[in-house]
Amino acid sequence: MPRPEPIKAVRGVRDIMPADRPLWRRAERSAAAVAERFGYEEIVTPIIEPAELIERAGEDSDAFAKELYRFVDRGDRAIALRPEATAGVVRAYFEHNLNQGPQPSRLYLIGPMFRYDRPQKGRYRQFFQLDVEAIGSAGPALDAEVIEIARDWLSTLGLGDLRIELNSIGDHRCRPAYLEELKAYYRPLAENLSAESQRRIEQNPLRLLDSKAEQDQPFKARAPRITDHLCDECSAHWSAVRRLLDAAAIEYVLNPHLVRGLDYYTRTVFEIFPAGAAGQQDALAGGGRYDGLAEAEGWPPTPAVGFASGLDRVTDLMAAGDSSPVAVVVLPEGELDVAASELARICRTAAAVAVDYETRSLESKMRSASKRGARWVVIVNEEEASRRVARLRDMTQREQTEVRWEELPTRLA
Ligand code: AMP
Repeated sequence: MPRPEPIKAVRGVRDIMPADRPLWRRAERSAAAVAERFGYEEIVTPIIEPAELIERAGEDSDAFAKELYRFVDRGDRAIALRPEATAGVVRAYFEHNLNQGPQPSRLYLIGPMFRYDRPQKGRYRQFFQLDVEAIGSAGPALDAEVIEIARDWLSTLGLGDLRIELNSIGDHRCRPAYLEELKAYYRPLAENLSAESQRRIEQNPLRLLDSKAEQDQPFKARAPRITDHLCDECSAHWSAVRRLLDAAAIEYVLNPHLVRGLDYYTRTVFEIFPAGAAGQQDALAGGGRYDGLAEAEGWPPTPAVGFASGLDRVTDLMAAGDSSPVAVVVLPEGELDVAASELARICRTAAAVAVDYETRSLESKMRSASKRGARWVVIVNEEEASRRVARLRDMTQREQTEVRWEELPTRLA
């Protein structure tokens, strides 16, 4: 019978292999450490959510709908794989009465997100995000705080050379009048614009400002700026955020074309890029205020701010450190499984240990231990096992000494 074709991973998703996990772990651990230092607590929400929750939060964006992994389960419920964490975190905040506790609720989450997007480097259909949310406060200090968390975390990982782009997109009071002005500016230019932008003039004019199409670029520069049209409240918030960032010595650049397409986003928006990156495709993090989301989900109006950062992109930029998790390899010479496993158990009180149980030559076992990056090798033969001694080899110094089993933990520590 012919062998069936081996089955490979689903398109656009990837395995994170043991060689890369130490890097990922470092990123995840320092995310938790930095967030917790700012008083944020971890929350874990389900990967599946009612499709309606996600769709209500993103209903006026067709790109959003096209990217959604959506299915009907056996109980005829419409389910979505979460494309981002915020909608679920806000749901959980209300469902578990965090809104009745001290405000704001400071929450963070690390986990996989799903978007049916065109896969390419740095863009996957399953990807991981650090999500940081401060829910229940309208104060500008929280906007600056979440930016500081993102900056501190990326710096800790050696990615301190950043470009933080900042804008304000106003709120339900000032944005409608500004959008009318934006439409009035773009309408006479319509025939020069890309098809997508032509459609957006009436449907989602704010998104004209972040069009990537070449032919739209010349018109963006002269478009009216929302920061010139903010109401008094938004304007005060906007200057307060910048003052706070200045006081924290966080550098940023103003980008009047940085927007969000959905109505529930208000005021502050920001994106963080590696300093050298030219395109908008390389963002390491994006966030802002979403004072209208709770209401869009059917809960009482509640102001909130947060950001999400892509761990796939962050780990891709981190310098690979010493990644060998195994410090010691025990190499039995001959059929010595019982002795070797006891020896390993003793060594494990001091270090990470793997045993090479394969029946092959000592030479080839040594080669493989060195390939794994082991710092130490512990070799034992039958005669040595009977005396409870072993040869401890320092792989960097290439020195070898006889050591009693019981002394190994001190030698390896
Ligand atoms: P967003 O939720 O779209 O604002 O994205 C926030 C961050 O998540 C981005 O800055 C990226 O770092 C990351 N990200 C978004 N989409 C993807 C994707 N498809 N693959 C990998 N990372 C992503």
